[in-house]
Amino acid sequence: MGKVEPVHVIGGGLAGSEAAWQAAGMGVPVVLHEMRPVRGTEAHQTESLAELVCSNSFRSDDALNNAVGLLHEEMRRSGSLILAAADRHKLPAGGALAVDREGFAAAVTARIAAHPLIEIRREEIAGPPPADWTSVIIATGPLTAPDLAQAILELTGESALSFFDAIAPIVHKDSIDFDKAWFQSRYDRVGPEGDGADYINCPLSRDEYDAFHVALLAGEKADFKEWEKSTPYFEACLPIEVMAERGPRTLCFGPMKPVGLTDPKTGRRPHAVVQLRQDNALGTLYNMVGFQTKLKHGEQARIFRMIPGLERAEFARLGGLHRNTFINSPRLLDRELRLKAQPRLRFAGQITGVEGYVESAAIGLLAGQLAARARLGLATEAPPATTALGALLNHITGAADARTFQPMNVNFGLLPELPVPAGLSRAAEKQWRAERKPALARRALEDLAAWQARLGMTGAAPLAVAI
Ligand SMILES: Cc1cc2nc3c(=O)[nH]c(=O)nc-3n(C[C@H](O)[C@H](O)[C@H](O)COP(=O)(O)OP(=O)(O)OC[C@H]3O[C@@H](n4cnc5c(N)ncnc54)[C@H](O)[C@@H]3O)c2cc1C
Repeated sequence: MGKVEPVHVIGGGLAGSEAAWQAAGMGVPVVLHEMRPVRGTEAHQTESLAELVCSNSFRSDDALNNAVGLLHEEMRRSGSLILAAADRHKLPAGGALAVDREGFAAAVTARIAAHPLIEIRREEIAGPPPADWTSVIIATGPLTAPDLAQAILELTGESALSFFDAIAPIVHKDSIDFDKAWFQSRYDRVGPEGDGADYINCPLSRDEYDAFHVALLAGEKADFKEWEKSTPYFEACLPIEVMAERGPRTLCFGPMKPVGLTDPKTGRRPHAVVQLRQDNALGTLYNMVGFQTKLKHGEQARIFRMIPGLERAEFARLGGLHRNTFINSPRLLDRELRLKAQPRLRFAGQITGVEGYVESAAIGLLAGQLAARARLGLATEAPPATTALGALLNHITGAADARTFQPMNVNFGLLPELPVPAGLSRAAEKQWRAERKPALARRALEDLAAWQARLGMTGAAPLAVAI
C-alpha cells in the first residue's frame, strides 16, 4: 500500500484524543488540531488534552449492573486510551471510577504526544475544514468555538444545530404503573406513525396537582453557570419549575393540560395529566413531555415520583438545561458517523448528542476506528446493537426520534431486550426484569468479542502499555 493520507481530528478533548489514539493504533497517521492554549473555552483551564471540565468521575464501574460500567469494560476491551489512563490514575470512590484529573489528563497528553503517527497542532480551526482534508473527525465538544460552530451551522442548517440542551427526564417503561397510567393520544388523534394511543398518560386529581405544584416551587434548583446566563433559552423550552412560578394554573394550560384525554378508570377527564412519549425505536424508554428542568437530580426523582403511575419510576436519565453544542445526529449522520451531505466529515463526542465523558470518548473510539478502517480500505460493520458501544451508536444515528432529539447517556434501555422466559407469573416476570442486567451485560461482552473477531480487530485486548 502507498502512503496513507492522514485523518484530521479537530478537538483534543475526551473524544478527539480517543479517536486519534485508535486511528493511529491501526497504523493511520493523524493530525490532531487542538486550539488550547491559543484559544480557551469558558470551562477548560489547562492546555492538557482530555481535560475533565467538571467532576472527576467516570461514574459506576460495575460492568454487570450498570450500563456505563459495561461501556467502560467494552472500551477497555477495545484498547481505549481514555479508560487505560483512568484505570492508571484511579482514586478510591466506592463503586465509581474516579480519577486524579491532572494525572489522567497528563497521561493522555503524554501518550498522544509520544505516538509516532500523531502530530499535534495547537491551532483553532475557524471555519469549514479545508477541502483537501479528505477524512476529518470533528470532536470539538459542547463548547465548540464560535467560528467553527457557524461553519457547522451552515453545513447542517439552523434547525439541526443546538446551542442549549433542554432535557426532559426519561423513564424506563417497565417501571411505570399501568394500573394508574394508560395509553392514549389527545382526542385519540392518529398521527403519521401512530395509532391514536401513542402517549402514556398519568392522571392527577386536584389535590395531587396542588401538592405537586407546591413541591415544584419548593424544589432545590441547580444554578446556571455565569457564562451560561448570556445564552438565551427559548420560551418553548422553559423549565417546568419556571412555568410553575408563573401561576398555580399555568401548567394546566401547558404541558399538564388534560384536554382530549379520558381516564379509563373513571371515564372522566382528569384535573391534570403528565404525558410520556416514546423515546427510542425499541419502545423501552419514554420521555416526560415538556418536563425539561433545572431541579437538582435528587429533587427530580423525589418530586416526579409524586405523579400517580410514576411512584416507582426508574429514570434512564434525569432532566437538565445546559449550554451545549450538538447536531441532530439521527437526521444528519449515517451509521458510520459521517455527515450524509459531506461524507469526508465525521462527528464524534458530545457534539453528536451523547452526554458525558465516557459516552463522548466511546463515540470518539468508534469514529477513530471507522475513519482508520476506511483509510485502509477495510470492511466496516457497526458494533452490534446488543453492546453498549453499538446501542449508543445506534441511538444517535437512527434509533432516536430526530424530531425531539436531545443528548443521551448510555443506559440499558438502549439495548434490545432479552426474550422474557415463557410461563412466568406477573410477579416472577417483574423479578426477572429487575435482575436481567447481568444477562444483558454478558450478552453484550460476548457479542463484542464475536464482532471484534469478525473484523479481525487486534486492539481487542486491554491496553498492555504502562501509562
Ligand atoms: C461546563 C460543563 C461541565 C460538564 N461536566 C461534566 C461532568 O461532570 N461529567 C460528565 O460526564 N460530563 C460533563 N460534561 C459533558 C461532556 O461530557 C464533557 O464536556 C466532555 O468533555 C465532552 O467530550 P468532548 O471530547 O466531546 O468535548 P471536550 O472534552 O470539550 O473537547 C473538545 C475540544 O475541542 C477543542 N475545540 C473546540 N473548538 C475548537 C476549534 N474550533 N478548533 C480546535 N479545537 C477546538 C476544545 O478546546 C476542547 O479541547 C460537562 C460539560 C460542560 C460544558
